[in-house]
Parts: sequence; structure tokens; C-alpha cells
Amino acid sequence: MRIAILSRNKKLYSTRRLVEAGEERGHEMPVINHQRCYMNITSHKPSIHVNGAVIEGVDAIIPRIGASISFYGTAVVRQFEMMGVYSVNESVAITRSRDKLRALQLLARKGIGLPITGFANSPEDTEDLLKFVGGAPVVIKLLEGTQGVGVVLGETKKAAESVIEAFSGLKANFMVQEFIKEAGGADIRCFVVGDKVVAAMKRQGKEGEFRSNLHRGGAASLIKITPEERSTAVRSARVMGLNVAGVDLLRSNHGPVVMEVNSSPGLDGIENATQKNVAGMIIEFIEKHAKHGKTRTRGSG
Ligand code: ADP
Repeated sequence: MRIAILSRNKKLYSTRRLVEAGEERGHEMPVINHQRCYMNITSHKPSIHVNGAVIEGVDAIIPRIGASISFYGTAVVRQFEMMGVYSVNESVAITRSRDKLRALQLLARKGIGLPITGFANSPEDTEDLLKFVGGAPVVIKLLEGTQGVGVVLGETKKAAESVIEAFSGLKANFMVQEFIKEAGGADIRCFVVGDKVVAAMKRQGKEGEFRSNLHRGGAASLIKITPEERSTAVRSARVMGLNVAGVDLLRSNHGPVVMEVNSSPGLDGIENATQKNVAGMIIEFIEKHAKHGKTRTRGSG
């Protein structure tokens, strides 16, 4: 097969591993920089071009779209879909999961465990918002943040109010969440391919840090997850409509709660922590499922 990886950088670990895993299984694995793609959006014969050449003969794509260029990236994925090319994660599913608030609302509708989360527009509602997430300490999150940036712990009511006031003043959208203290600064990344968790790791934040992001100095280790965690992760990916997803969970007193469902989960942390060939499993999934014109909107809402 000819499986294109949409990635802005060939040298990234995840991109390199997907190329390697695909070639090992006998596929042609071009890397296409989606930012350099341009599109002819015409009925009957939509096309995608790079550097003056038209892209042809692609059987499937693996989108690796960074959060900062979601809008353009998903437009390119959609254009491939219009051409009948199979995408392992569809554009609608990527868009759903990228919008943190929409994603939580969709998960809540399906009864998936979540930290109690509040969202408001007016600073006048801060008091009530803090009350229904259980009062301080609370976690305040910018909707646009990634890799732990813009995730703040408001330890006291006063501190939380100040942060909310500051974010509101900057006209930033944010949500307020129950602080899952018992997670102890650790979260669980479940790597889902199809309807299985194929690998899982625990990420522990540095001493004194409640955020476990590896980019913030968190450390990854192997973990055995419970059947409930496994099914929560698989169901979350399904609600988003993602075939490949990184589902981040916290272990709370009221069971596993989902923080985020990532549509371009990194392979370096998970492959190194588990020594599993996750890239190979993604390729295998594509071999089984990719068919021309087999794009349909999955997930819910
Ligand atoms: P980002 O998408 O920027 O990584 P997250 O929502 O995943 O933001 O939060 C970053 C980290 O902060 C998480 O990995 C987790 O360790 C911690 N965290 C986030 N929300 C909570 C919460 N409600 N309770 C406890 N810890 C949290």
C-alpha cells in the first residue's frame, strides 16, 4: 500500500517510527507536509498539490496534526477524504477531540467518568462555579493550552479567584475542574488502536508538580491498568470517533476519570516505556481497515 503520513517534520520520532514500521511491512510510506499542501476544492475532481505536483495514488493517510495548525491540517485531511482516501483518524474526529470542552461534553453525554468540570463566561459566576466543582483546590485550564501550559492549580479560594480574574481579563476561555488530589501527580496514558488499549504507561510529575506531562519533566513507567480503565479508554476513543488515540486518565476515588483524548498521540514515550511496536500496530490496523471511499463520520456529535 501507499500510506502517507501527514507530518510537518520527517525527523520526529513518531514520524520516523511510522515510516519504519510501514516499510518493514512492505508499504510505501511518503511523508507529506500538510502545511505545504494546497487544494483544489472542485466538485467531482477534488485534488491536493505540493510544490506544483498533484498528489496521486495514496491508499491511506495517517494524520499527525499539531495543535497549533488544527484548522489547516484538518482541512487537508478532509480533502483527502473527499478524494476517497482512507484516513486512520477522520477530520471530524480530530476536530472533536481538539476542542477540549466539546470533547468533555460528548464524553459526559455517554456517561464516561470525568473530573467535575465547570465552564462560564462571566466572572460574576465564579463563586457558583467554584462551588459546584467542590471548592478549592481546583484546577483551572485554558482551553487552548497543550502540554500542561495554562493548567493551574488554585490551591485556595482566593488564589483560584485571582487566576480566574486574570484569565477572564485576558479574554481567554478556560474551564474549572475538581482537583483529583488522590492521583498524586500521576496520570495514565492509554494508547488505543481500534477497539483495544495496545499499550499503557503511567506518567509521574516531578516532585512538587501536579502536572505529569513528559514535556514538563514527568517520568514514564509501565503500569497494569484495570478492566474499568481499559473500557473507559476504549469507549472514550469511540465517542470521539478516533481509531488511534491517546486517552489520558486519572485514578480518582470515584474511578477512572478522563482528562483528554489526543488524536495525534506521541509514540516515543509509550514505545520506550512499554517496549512495544505501537507504530507497527497502527500500520496493521490500516492494512485491515483501509478501503477506498471508506470514509464515514464516526463517533457522536
Ligand atoms: P494538557 O492537555 O495541556 O496536557 P491536561 O488537561 O492534560 O493539559 O493537564 C496536564 C496535567 O495536569 C495532567 O497530565 C495531569 O497530570 C494534571 N491534571 C490535569 N487536570 C487535573 C485534575 N483535574 N486533577 C488533578 N490533576 C490534573
